[in-house]
Amino acid sequence: MKCGNEILPERIESIRYSQCSGDGSGIKCESESVSGAVSQRACVYCGARVVLNPITDAFHIVHGPIGCASYTWDIRGSLSSGDEGYRNSYSTDLRETDVIFGGEKKLTAAIDEVMARHSPRVIFIYATCIVGVIGDDIDAICRNAEEKYQIRVIPVKSPGFSGTKKTGYKMACNAIMNLITPSILPEKTADVNILGDFNLAGEMWIIKNYLRKIGISVAANITGDARVDDLKNAPAAKLNLVQCAGSMTYLAKQMEETFAIPFIKISFFGVTDTSDSLLRIAYATGDKNVIERAKAFIEEEKNRVIPLLDKYRKNLVGKKAAIYVGGGFKAISLIRQFNEFGMKTVMVGTQTGSKEDYELIQHLVDEDAVILDDANPAELEAFMTEMGADILVGGVKERPLAYKLGIAFCDHNHERKHPLSGYEGTLNFASEINLSMNSPVWEIISQGGMKYV
Ligand code: SF4
Repeated sequence: MKCGNEILPERIESIRYSQCSGDGSGIKCESESVSGAVSQRACVYCGARVVLNPITDAFHIVHGPIGCASYTWDIRGSLSSGDEGYRNSYSTDLRETDVIFGGEKKLTAAIDEVMARHSPRVIFIYATCIVGVIGDDIDAICRNAEEKYQIRVIPVKSPGFSGTKKTGYKMACNAIMNLITPSILPEKTADVNILGDFNLAGEMWIIKNYLRKIGISVAANITGDARVDDLKNAPAAKLNLVQCAGSMTYLAKQMEETFAIPFIKISFFGVTDTSDSLLRIAYATGDKNVIERAKAFIEEEKNRVIPLLDKYRKNLVGKKAAIYVGGGFKAISLIRQFNEFGMKTVMVGTQTGSKEDYELIQHLVDEDAVILDDANPAELEAFMTEMGADILVGGVKERPLAYKLGIAFCDHNHERKHPLSGYEGTLNFASEINLSMNSPVWEIISQGGMKYV
């Protein structure tokens, strides 16, 4: 592929590719998408929604046109151990006349209707693009509703045009702080909060189970399988564990400043990261018993899982992987997992990675690997083809790109049904990669399709 052909000139600095950006130092990232590049990245509102939606007993009213409300549980699914109300979504369905005369009355009516039909304790009100343009005073409406109904009604100002998906994460974190900040700080009665796991397929339950086994108590899950009461308990934790650093580092810093809770970054993807994270958490408690239990548990799990992984390894070794995911932390964990399997990562990109993420990624991959920030479908397709990727790991928007090219695909996002965290998750991942990549269908396709006789 030649630079300036498939790649827009404005995109060159966001891609490390030997023919474009030389040594690749200082990849351009954390900036707004290039107009007309048709980025894979979701908007500010989507960033906010993806963080807040897993709170199972919260209500979500999307103040905007009906199209914005399509971004809901059905495409950003997560699992609940109790309430199912969060699977519903509510919209004010703004039309042309509302744009001219204002949508405030509609929003007030929507809150009244939700209150009349349900008994919410918290409602999040998302202001999307058109509300950012017409300037409805959603702060005043939320204040009035809180006074009228004596519940929390929290504005999330997230017009899609007001920044990047990461701006949406920040808006969601501000909303969480708004919800959980107590008037008086509680005593520290729990060991940790878990930040940045969204329990897409039960991962939060795996992590909590590990922590329970080694003797660590959890105050709040933020936000996978979260409940409002548990979230309000978060200030009582001694330490924050940050898994999805892209979305949750901002909240962790806020909580450190306001509640004096320090944080560490952890990852439960892959045997190495899971083991390292458990040990670091155990050491952070300073409790000898917890450290001993963690060591024993890690040893036991490694002995169980590594021989099973070795069986897959022989089918995976030497294969080439492409990665395009939301945040840097997941990309880094995936590269490490592929290294453990004996695979080579030939292309890796993220929607919201930071400079530090990309520096670490550069250290983990070979010199000739393509690294790209905020990519578009044309770039992903061109580089996957050029680099000869055997499998793409991504989310719902990347799946068709891989299948169109006749390349295997693994969903590492909301559409998956099997958890990919922890030791059992690593086994699920290896099994899925093996099944998908080594399916006979790719050979049949490459030979021109199935012959019918
Ligand atoms: S907030 Fe704006 S960019 Fe996002 S879905 Fe709604 S209209 Fe589209």
